[in-house]
Amino acid sequence: MPQFSFGQASLKELKGVHTDLVAVVTRAIALTVQDFSVHDGVRTITEQQKLIAAGASQTMDSRHLTGHAVDLVPYINGKRRWEWAPIFVIADAVRVAARELAIPLRWGGAWDVDFTTSSESPEDWVSSYVAHRKKQGLRAFIDGPHYELPKAKYP
Ligand SMILES: [Zn+2]
Repeated sequence: MPQFSFGQASLKELKGVHTDLVAVVTRAIALTVQDFSVHDGVRTITEQQKLIAAGASQTMDSRHLTGHAVDLVPYINGKRRWEWAPIFVIADAVRVAARELAIPLRWGGAWDVDFTTSSESPEDWVSSYVAHRKKQGLRAFIDGPHYELPKAKYP
């Protein structure tokens, strides 16, 4: 029996999200040892503009606008918590789910990693991503709860 399952709020967020991504997330909640909730599925243009203004997002080209992205936030003692330790545990479960279903994914914790087939720990991906960006003189925009279907395969 799975340990966790989605509440009404998470199920509502998944409405309109691409079925492949819903499949991964649904499998991940059954596998994970860290409960999580779906924070953002499909966003409207207005919601995205507000997030950019608040510095929480960088692009109007967000995959959330088209149903190709979700944010999975640790759910601990009845609250959503943006903390790395549980975020890494969730990333592990999502990777296992994506691999089982053979669905390619990008993770906001390390955008340039082939998330589904990688074998390093999520923690290592984040630090190597940050180091890699620094080397290029670029800032690392890290978004641990964010998962998306790659544009190359899901235009
Ligand atoms: Zn996101």
